[in-house]
Amino acid sequence: MMYDVIIVGAGAAGLYLGAQLKGANVLILEKNNRPGIKLLASGSGQCNLTHSGYISAFYERYGDHKSFVKPALKAHDNKAVIAYFESLGLKTMEREDGKVFPASLKAKDVVVALMRQVQHIRYQSNVKSIDQNENGFVVSLETGEALHAKGVIIATGGKSYPTMGSTGDGYTLAQALGHSIVPPKPGLTGVVTREKTLLALQGQSFKNSIITCTGPKTNRQIKGDLLITHFGLSGPVILNHSRWLYPGDRLKVNFLGKAQECVEKEFLEAVNHNGEKPLAFWLNQLEITDAFKNYIVDALEKEMAIQGLAQMKLGNIDKLLRKRLLSFLLAYPLEIENLIGYQQAMVTAGGVSLEEVSSKTMMSKTVANLYFIGEVLDIDGDTGGYNLQWAFSSAAAAASEIKKKLVTE
Ligand SMILES: Cc1cc2nc3c(=O)[nH]c(=O)nc-3n(C[C@H](O)[C@H](O)[C@H](O)COP(=O)(O)OP(=O)(O)OC[C@H]3O[C@@H](n4cnc5c(N)ncnc54)[C@H](O)[C@@H]3O)c2cc1C
Repeated sequence: MMYDVIIVGAGAAGLYLGAQLKGANVLILEKNNRPGIKLLASGSGQCNLTHSGYISAFYERYGDHKSFVKPALKAHDNKAVIAYFESLGLKTMEREDGKVFPASLKAKDVVVALMRQVQHIRYQSNVKSIDQNENGFVVSLETGEALHAKGVIIATGGKSYPTMGSTGDGYTLAQALGHSIVPPKPGLTGVVTREKTLLALQGQSFKNSIITCTGPKTNRQIKGDLLITHFGLSGPVILNHSRWLYPGDRLKVNFLGKAQECVEKEFLEAVNHNGEKPLAFWLNQLEITDAFKNYIVDALEKEMAIQGLAQMKLGNIDKLLRKRLLSFLLAYPLEIENLIGYQQAMVTAGGVSLEEVSSKTMMSKTVANLYFIGEVLDIDGDTGGYNLQWAFSSAAAAASEIKKKLVTE
């Protein structure tokens, strides 16, 4: 039997492609015993399938890969994804923050909608190798069985949450066909800090923090909401930039998200106008929690060997104490010990090198009729529905090319 195409992997990208190719002679091979396991877990089981707003705002959400993602996202944008799901009978809803979900808030409904379109799928079919021959490809399973197709799509995902099936197989399959792999690393993940000083603040979040990150490969300032955790730091500002962070990087956390000059000016004005008032008066004007205020006061009292700091008159705070206070608030030093690994990283940064793949069709530039879609490529998006949108848009890009080239009427 010769298939038009074989899709390796029944995740978000593979299922969307299978659905788009309904009616064609397509086989999906999945190593798990059911489809879309990661899709079922996405968005805490609610599946944040895309984001609302202009597609032009999406391009910046994929790290340094704006130019690669643009054609596919533009050709099959968030509105097209929503319209497609609605055409399958899956109603969607948009949350206030712009995240789009199935109206039922059940990821299962997304998988069911796609699966209704898919005709041929085989489970417990672990693909071990893909070879080219004169007619196309031979896809070999772990069992030794060989299957034949004119085209092959590698939709095996990355290496994150390996228990869900994505164990990095796609990289090996791609390499064997001559493709290069950008070394994978955990993405959308928290960082373990060497210092455990903020442990008492776990659960506290800071709106619009600014973090200066420096290291041999890192030199950037990142901005966004920060969460203190039991291991170190998380929250969108860390998750969305973790693709650029490495163990050993030094961080300076500005919890207030304001420029040093501005905060210093405000402090000196408070000293001039309210010098008789206590430090607590000034701290109370900051948008920080009581727990954080207490933490700073305690830490400074210990460091400077003083007592009753919260009640100290603003006019009595000397230059050294002011400097230390501002540096606690605006340049809190931490070092990254590690990134939280693949077991909990929501995506994988790195993957099949984009230089060898067409950004319009997702077809290999070196092996005709070989395609890569979804997270197996060196693409990882921010949180907020951008990764599933990529899985769907890249699948749609491959689908239109496959329909033109490979599908027998
Ligand atoms: C907990 C969690 C929550 C998430 N939530 C969201 C969210 O709400 N919104 C969002 O946009 N993104 C979210 N993501 C990211 C998103 O789920 C992924 O980016 C997306 O699923 C990638 O799709 P994919 O099809 O490329 O890979 P996957 O969905 O990982 O699918 C790959 C499939 O290939 C199969 N496979 C692998 N190797 C083989 C082989 N050798 N033979 C046969 N089959 C194989 C795997 O078993 C798997 O089923 C989340 C990720 C996680 C882990």
